[in-house]
Amino acid sequence: MGTRILVIEDNPASMELARYVLEAFGYTVSAAVDGEIGLELARAEPPDLVICDLQLPGIDGIEVAKRLKAQPALARVPLIAVTAYAMVGDRERVLAAGFNGYISKPIDPQTFVPQIAAFLKSPAPMPKSPDTSAAAAGEPPASR
Ligand code: MN
Repeated sequence: MGTRILVIEDNPASMELARYVLEAFGYTVSAAVDGEIGLELARAEPPDLVICDLQLPGIDGIEVAKRLKAQPALARVPLIAVTAYAMVGDRERVLAAGFNGYISKPIDPQTFVPQIAAFLKSPAPMPKSPDTSAAAAGEPPASR
């Protein structure tokens, strides 16, 4: 089983971009459109990493962070905030809530995966090439 990333994001365009980029690098993505659903998915099957929007309907990202980090099974799962509203003091508030990192929206497809991978134990994956079969997984991709 590959690395599973839970993305909690209510904006469909942002969700699709994150999913597209992460899946292109071989990650398995679980999608949640609000914090409550995200917490349920995380409890049901702890992911390897959580990416969470701060502005969400219902409970906000700060509350999601507090609830995730309060659960022993999930406390050590890396939790990364994404937000379009980078305000003075935001970063400190986010880190104080329990987030391990902070990425500004809109996400940059060129740097997003390396930023995420830095919080995972495994090294940054290579993008999947269209002709890479499952049997070749683990081998370095041929240079093209
Ligand atoms: Mn949002």
